[in-house]
Amino acid sequence: IPKIISEVSDSELFKTKIWETESRERPEEIYHTGFYEDKDHAYVVISEGCSNYCSYCVVPFVRGELHNRAPKDIINEIEEAVKKGINKITLLGQNVNAYQSPAASCQLPVNFIKLLKLINETKGLKEFTFVTSHPKDTSVELFKIMAECDKLKKNLHLPVQSGSDRILELMNRGYTKKKYLDLVKAYRKEMPAGTITTDIIVGFPTESSEDFQQTHDLMKEAGFDAAYIFKYSPRPHTQAEHYADDVPKAEKERRHKALLDFIKAVLVVIMLCVSMPARAELDIFDHPRQIERKKAVIVKKDDAKLLDYPNECFLKGEYEATFRSCQKLLEYKPAQGLKLQIMYLMGLSCLKLNRFLEARSYFNDVTISGAAGDDLKRDASLGIADSYFLDDKLDEAAGAYKEILGRYPPTEVGSIVYYRLYEISHQQGREEEAQQYLSRLKREFPFSFEAQLKTEEPKSYSVQAGCFNSKRNTDRFCEKLVSIGFDAYIVESPGVEEPRYRVKAGRFNSKEEAEAVKVKLKNAGYPARVSPEK
Ligand code: SF4
Repeated sequence: IPKIISEVSDSELFKTKIWETESRERPEEIYHTGFYEDKDHAYVVISEGCSNYCSYCVVPFVRGELHNRAPKDIINEIEEAVKKGINKITLLGQNVNAYQSPAASCQLPVNFIKLLKLINETKGLKEFTFVTSHPKDTSVELFKIMAECDKLKKNLHLPVQSGSDRILELMNRGYTKKKYLDLVKAYRKEMPAGTITTDIIVGFPTESSEDFQQTHDLMKEAGFDAAYIFKYSPRPHTQAEHYADDVPKAEKERRHKALLDFIKAVLVVIMLCVSMPARAELDIFDHPRQIERKKAVIVKKDDAKLLDYPNECFLKGEYEATFRSCQKLLEYKPAQGLKLQIMYLMGLSCLKLNRFLEARSYFNDVTISGAAGDDLKRDASLGIADSYFLDDKLDEAAGAYKEILGRYPPTEVGSIVYYRLYEISHQQGREEEAQQYLSRLKREFPFSFEAQLKTEEPKSYSVQAGCFNSKRNTDRFCEKLVSIGFDAYIVESPGVEEPRYRVKAGRFNSKEEAEAVKVKLKNAGYPARVSPEK
């Protein structure tokens, strides 16, 4: 490094002090996917620098003010990438939402929303996404366009930094906790299956326990799919550098750990309990006991140090890495005593990767092993049943759940099994049977998470008229219902591989009103079903 520095400092470039000229803009020639590409994926810079001057952030001082590239240069770069066989793109910028085409670059101004539409039309491009967004420049309009652009991944990274309005003001972020949560709500409304992640800083100067609690509450309310949590430390040139860094180190550590533990626990719940189709409907955050219980399933395996790494990957949601590290462990002699736990973890990873057949095979090996304890066998049996359930093989799933009830005392997993059987009977239209499972759930596990879910009074009722895999068929059916006078709309939810689309005909405050519309639909030749809504 000293040699390189000395070479550079002797160069002409250094002598002319090129970086000290007024503009920090890089020449256009510097941008090409060669800098940032993978096999089928490339990063494409749309803007550099930032003019927001958040009080803790050094970016405006080291990267300069926001500078946007011309839309035609961005599109050219993407087209060039596509020609090279790259079909996935990530658009990069410190604050992509503030994108605005430079005045001289095109006659009609192009903002971020228009840019997304233009990119979505690029031939040969399969998928694209963007980072990072700023809440103050994010809008419902953006979410609507995100939902419309079929090539755009439904992921949003929206750093919140703090849940306390006082701290947000000190950070110069330009929004309040309420505005942020309203955005999250609007995002979920437009893209119920979309994911949302965030960044949080703990221990910002003057952050009190109450401020921190506000952040913790916001995390619960927003229901992030992942969060990157940082401990504050001052940066040169920034406004916050002049504030007293007054939250003690140990307290920063404690707050950091508290949020990290929370998000890890949530990931485990999402992963183990709240299966993909059901996820949007559950309010997991109000049920810490459930979180703890599900966490225990993984944590109890932590006594074996060798499983630390795969467990860690699993908790982070890196299922492919979990699977691969387990494969390696299976070949490792000292880990032979953990073979069954490793296979169980491989089964869980396959479940999350939608490789259901493979998942069943690992779970099955555990259940038939004479060496497996009852708890592990029972958990693996639940894995088999879940694999059928997530694979939409409801008859097989029902058989497997019933087998668990017959074979193992309905303690630990009983409430989950009853809940699943209730869901299956309900989905297959056997309402009486569904109600029987529900009664057993409430009677035998009155304090369980699942029972609590089902005792909550629905806030409203909808009438479901159809469920489709094809968006085109869904649109047609929805239009048909609207044309004959029903207040129809489409709800998208994640399916096993593809999203599923439900056409609903109105939302009502009382069950009676919903039932009346159901009858109307039936008379028009469309059998329908009333569903409670939260
Ligand atoms: Fe800009 Fe982000 Fe830094 Fe704020 S935190 S100044 S938005 S780069």
